[in-house]
Amino acid sequence: MIETQADMGGQRLERDQVFNFACHPGLACFNSCCRDKRLPLWPYDLLRLRRSLPMDSARILEKYAELEFDPRSGWPSLRLRLDDQGRCPLLTPEGCGVYAHRPAACRIYPLAWAAKPAAEGLPPQELFVRQETKGCLGWREAREHTPATWVADQGLEPYLEANAALLGLFFHPKRRGRLKLNQAQTHAVIASLYNLDVFRQAVGQADFAARAGLDPQAVQRALESDEALLSLGRDWLAERLFGPGR
Ligand code: SF4
Ligand code: SF4
Repeated sequence: MIETQADMGGQRLERDQVFNFACHPGLACFNSCCRDKRLPLWPYDLLRLRRSLPMDSARILEKYAELEFDPRSGWPSLRLRLDDQGRCPLLTPEGCGVYAHRPAACRIYPLAWAAKPAAEGLPPQELFVRQETKGCLGWREAREHTPATWVADQGLEPYLEANAALLGLFFHPKRRGRLKLNQAQTHAVIASLYNLDVFRQAVGQADFAARAGLDPQAVQRALESDEALLSLGRDWLAERLFGPGR
C-alpha cells in the first residue's frame, strides 16, 4: 500500500493530463517488460486471476503470490512471485497467459496508480504517476492518452473501484501508525480478502451471519457473487480488526 507519492517516484499526472505512449509488437522491447518488476496483487486481482487459471484461490496464492509486509505499519500485502530468471510465470511465448484477467499493475503500466490518505474526514486521494522504466520504447511514440482514457482503454474501472472500496480499511484511523497486526489478524486479512474460496466455505456455514453480526442478505449475495464476497470480506475484516461500528 502506497501512502505517499515519494514511495512511487516518477512524475505525477492529473486524470486529464496528456501523455504520449504506445505499446505494440513493432517495438524492439515488445514482451520484454513482464520481468524484473515488483507487481503488487490487490484482492480484486486475485478474484480476476481465478477466472483465468484452472485452480482455486488457495492454489493460486501458493503458486503465484508472495507475502510481504509494509515496513512501517506491518500491514500484509501480496505481490506476483517471479520465476528464477525474474520472469512472470504467467508469460507465455504468445504473450500474457491471463490477458483478459491480468492484474491492475499490468493494466495500468506505464503508469502507476495509488492512493494516499487525505485530511481527516476527506476521501483518500488518487495518484497517477509515470513509470518510465529503462528500455521501454513506448514513451517515444506519439499516440496521446490521459490517465482517464488509459483507465478506460485498459478495462481498469472495476479494478480501481474495487481497490478504492478497500481504502477505508487500509487507511482506517485505528490502523495508521498504530495497529500492528498479530499472526491471527494477518491470517484474517489474507483469508477474507484474497483466499476467496476458503472464505466462501466459512461464509456458507449456517450460523455465519449470526456469529459475525452481518446482514443475512449480504451473506446470501456473497455466496452467489465473487464481488459481493469480497465486499463482505472487507466488512467482516473491519469488524474483526477495529471492532463494532468500526
Ligand atoms: S517495454 Fe514498454 S513499450 Fe515495450 S512492451 Fe513493455 S510496456 Fe510495451
Ligand atoms: S500477468 Fe501477464 S501482463 Fe502481467 S506481468 Fe505476467 S505476463 Fe505480463
